[in-house]
Amino acid sequence: MISPDLLAILRCPVDPKRETPLQAQPGYLLCPRCQIKFPIKDGFPVLVVEEAELPPGCDGLAQLEARHTAG
Ligand SMILES: [Zn+2]
Repeated sequence: MISPDLLAILRCPVDPKRETPLQAQPGYLLCPRCQIKFPIKDGFPVLVVEEAELPPGCDGLAQLEARHTAG
């Protein structure tokens, strides 16, 4: 499990403003804005977009970035 201290400083790397906190889920971290999932490997979150699981129907990062900037 990710420590609360670490989780508190992590932000979605897709967010241009880097202000969206990530939510801890079993085995991955979820961005509540763009729905991208970052795997947790050996107890450490891998906040690398290339390693992340994009939400269903997502064509690419530009689409996810738009979710952060819209509304
Ligand atoms: Zn995001």
